[in-house]
Amino acid sequence: MKNKIFYTLNLMIIHYPIVIWRLLFIGLIIFAPFSKASSQTYFQQEVNYQINVTLNDRHHELSGSETIEYINNSPDTLHFLYFHLWPNGYSNNNTELAQQLINLKGKQKLFNDPELKGSIDSLDFKVNNEQVRWNLLPNQPDICQIWLNKALKTGDTLKITTLFHVKIPKGVTSRLGHIGESYQISQWYPKPAVYDQTGWHQMSNQDQGEFYSEFGSFDVNITLPANYIVGATGNLQNQQEAEMLDQLAADTTWIKKLGSEKADFPPSSAKMKTLRYTENKIHDFAWFADKRFHVLKGKVKLPGSGREVTTLVMFTNQQAKLWKDAIPYVNNAITLFSKWNGDYPYQNFTAVQSALSAGDGMEYPGITVIGLADDAYALDEVIAHEIGHSWFYSALGSNERRYPFMDEGITSTNEVRYMSERYPNKKLWEVNVKNLKLAKFFHIDQMPVKLMRELEWLSQARDNLEQPINLPADDYTTLNYSLMIYNKAGMGFNYLRAYLGDSLYDLAMHDYYHQWKFKHPQPNDLRQIFESRTGKDLSWFFSDFIGTTKRMDYSVMSYRNQKLLVKNKGELMSPFAISGMIGDSICFEKWVDGFAGEQWIDIPPGNYAELKIDPRHITPELFRLNNNIRTSGLFPKADPIRKQLYFSLEDPEKRYLMYIPGVNWTRENGFMLGMAMHNGFLTPKPFEYFVMPFYAFHNSDLAGFGKISYNITPYRKLIRKATISLEGTQFGAPDNQNYHKIKAGLDLFFSTNKMSNPLTHKIYGNYISASNLFQIERLEKAKMSSFLQFGYQLEKTSIINPFKLLVSSESGQSFLKTSVELNYKLSYYGKKNGLDIRFFAGTMLKNNPEIPFYAFSASGRTGPEQYLFQGTYPDRFSVFPGSFWSRQVTFSEGGLVSPVTNKLGYSRWLISLSFTSNLPGNSNWIPIKPFVNLLMNDHGLGTGHNSPFFYEAGLKAGLWNFFEIYMPLVVSGNIGSVTGQFKDRIRLVFKLDTFNQSKLNSGTGIRIK
Ligand SMILES: [Zn+2]
Repeated sequence: MKNKIFYTLNLMIIHYPIVIWRLLFIGLIIFAPFSKASSQTYFQQEVNYQINVTLNDRHHELSGSETIEYINNSPDTLHFLYFHLWPNGYSNNNTELAQQLINLKGKQKLFNDPELKGSIDSLDFKVNNEQVRWNLLPNQPDICQIWLNKALKTGDTLKITTLFHVKIPKGVTSRLGHIGESYQISQWYPKPAVYDQTGWHQMSNQDQGEFYSEFGSFDVNITLPANYIVGATGNLQNQQEAEMLDQLAADTTWIKKLGSEKADFPPSSAKMKTLRYTENKIHDFAWFADKRFHVLKGKVKLPGSGREVTTLVMFTNQQAKLWKDAIPYVNNAITLFSKWNGDYPYQNFTAVQSALSAGDGMEYPGITVIGLADDAYALDEVIAHEIGHSWFYSALGSNERRYPFMDEGITSTNEVRYMSERYPNKKLWEVNVKNLKLAKFFHIDQMPVKLMRELEWLSQARDNLEQPINLPADDYTTLNYSLMIYNKAGMGFNYLRAYLGDSLYDLAMHDYYHQWKFKHPQPNDLRQIFESRTGKDLSWFFSDFIGTTKRMDYSVMSYRNQKLLVKNKGELMSPFAISGMIGDSICFEKWVDGFAGEQWIDIPPGNYAELKIDPRHITPELFRLNNNIRTSGLFPKADPIRKQLYFSLEDPEKRYLMYIPGVNWTRENGFMLGMAMHNGFLTPKPFEYFVMPFYAFHNSDLAGFGKISYNITPYRKLIRKATISLEGTQFGAPDNQNYHKIKAGLDLFFSTNKMSNPLTHKIYGNYISASNLFQIERLEKAKMSSFLQFGYQLEKTSIINPFKLLVSSESGQSFLKTSVELNYKLSYYGKKNGLDIRFFAGTMLKNNPEIPFYAFSASGRTGPEQYLFQGTYPDRFSVFPGSFWSRQVTFSEGGLVSPVTNKLGYSRWLISLSFTSNLPGNSNWIPIKPFVNLLMNDHGLGTGHNSPFFYEAGLKAGLWNFFEIYMPLVVSGNIGSVTGQFKDRIRLVFKLDTFNQSKLNSGTGIRIK
């Protein structure tokens, strides 16, 4: 960046009516904070805790007592209080925590396993020393309601006491737990829910979804065996313990003689110690204890006040090699975040390494727990992120459950800014590929590391699957919680900073921090401060970018006489930057306020090779191919095509031609040499193609397959995505013929009103013109036949009990058939285990007995029966069971394995039911599954066969969805009468095109912190 100009003035003159309106609006905003109504409605309760707790490390239990001072600063009289009892989230499999974990990771024993179960009990609530009535909420055992004997009036104070006992779960499910004798003690004590202007905010413990708590003081005494080392929220009050930690930190000789990564726990000493921690103006207290911790200590001077903060890191041998360098990470983050947001709010900060099962790291006031990190860079990043929460969570106590963007989004922005300041030249490959040769091969060696976040977000945004940034945590799909809150919101605040400039943005953030420190800010409070501090109408950001999924897509139309014509093709009318470029270097950057339609923009004089919107990738531009224009040349808007072997991450500024050389073989074509070509499948695009032409040496002809599709993604319409596609197929057939097929299709994917709803539906229609396979097989000259297909598909994509329902019809010149197919998985314990149930019913509304294979097939279809040439069959026209490849089938319709097609197979109607199951136990890795198929069709009803009912049972084995062998061991009499011996019933499934059909989704880099 060489030259940064704020260029709003010119635009203001052109658009004076808008400007007048805006000035009025800004005026309103500036005066708004002075109105009495808004300043009087804010209040916050005060909750002061005194807790004594003892750790029993033989039974993994806590026993404690708690005294709470609750001060009612609200204008309301309270008759009851809600208390959180979050360890009860681990008490059974019906809690919100359990349900989230099960939905995310599949059916499992979870809290029915005594080791994983956690709970809080022995509660004995007294208010002002009097017994009170209290009850757990129905179906929410982690929340209780305490009924006050005497109402609590405005300004009055209550003393609430209780004993409590916590069973600490094994720490493999969420945030609270122990791994052996290493303890992560968070969300562990009875705690009042927040009561604010909008009422009570009682909330169950969740994994995806954080917290909201009242500020107050904590005075906590922790008693445990004397040889534990403890990291905790607050300030340690024991002189002796502090000296012990200083000594541990001072002696770093252990670094040279570092033992095994998996050091055992030393025996706990019989002697107990009690550690006291105190702190004011915090809203939570967490502690971590391990007898094996190494300790390092540092100091950091805050840039604003010069105040000194003590920093500590605690870690085990397991990650000591990385953590021995962690003090500077902590200190750098505290320094930079203090500079950007205002001074760090507390006197010390501790980062603890521990086994963590909820994300990469978890924040608590003054302390964070960090899971296992891959390398120094990742450790620096996750520590920085968690330290960022000292502002956006600890001090600014927003409702994280309702507005996760206010803590995670802004923290991610700080993290990204920190990382780009610390590692300005970090490349994506260094983090995600870690091999320069590979990176060069895939042409990603120059991609900056931050592009990964953009690409991850794009994969969802281009498919029209975004959700607004201001939703509650549990309204998001798991993927979107990460992509909208961390990636997109993180990018968004960075965008706002780039637009405002660092100094103005930082001033506004400082204001926000100082006004709302130790309070409960709402999104509007943040907006008000930004708009009053900057004097700008930021509704494009706070209303549209945060509150909707409006998309940003500015497009360069033409360039003439130092003026650039830009068209807004998106819905978001937000500012954007234009730059003049020479090669990759930016000559100027000019910000333009958002507009609808087209606008001519003045370009500062200069000799630029190219003009480009947002070359620094600051704005969430959905399409970047239309962002640039060259100042000379015949086709100034054309983007050069980048060729790439196989596939690669796609730079959104480039057009790709990716190619995969391939060989192929079919009996008719013989050996084939060819090439698959596509324009990338990691990032969805409006126009997509995949063509795979081959030269066939046997018949000296062309063979292959190709598909082009165009995707339309309207904004907030009934249809989420419409895909128009055109497919062509040509392969050799017997008698030196060729089989041709052309297919034109339309797929309409519907929007769902709530994205977390796992039900999706689509309708489709296809027109197909294909060589008449019946004629080909009779060695006649094949004519083209036409087919029409229509269908409706309802799919539930959850991990537990997913299903797919398809209602479809197909017609040709001489037949019409309609059918219903349901595939349902009854999930067992374990992520993919289950009973697969398939139901199929179909009837021919019009039938052509001349060509039997148009009717419903009882068995899986072999190559000669695939009249639409589906599937890849190396020896498609071989007759069963003549050769190995003739055993290849594709299951559809009746779905029987035994080859009953010839005599009993094709029917006017059929109903079938199939079952395939995992073997009992944890058998995901044993590739054998038993199956049972049942079928009824119109044969046997008066055709001399004594029963219309078919059954078979057997085993299938193989690599799922790619190569499978089916062996029907037991068959019904009517099947037996037409299929001969067992060996003549063995069939195989070979799905070569699984790879084409599956859309690779790189989950790399998506992490919750
Ligand atoms: Zn976070």
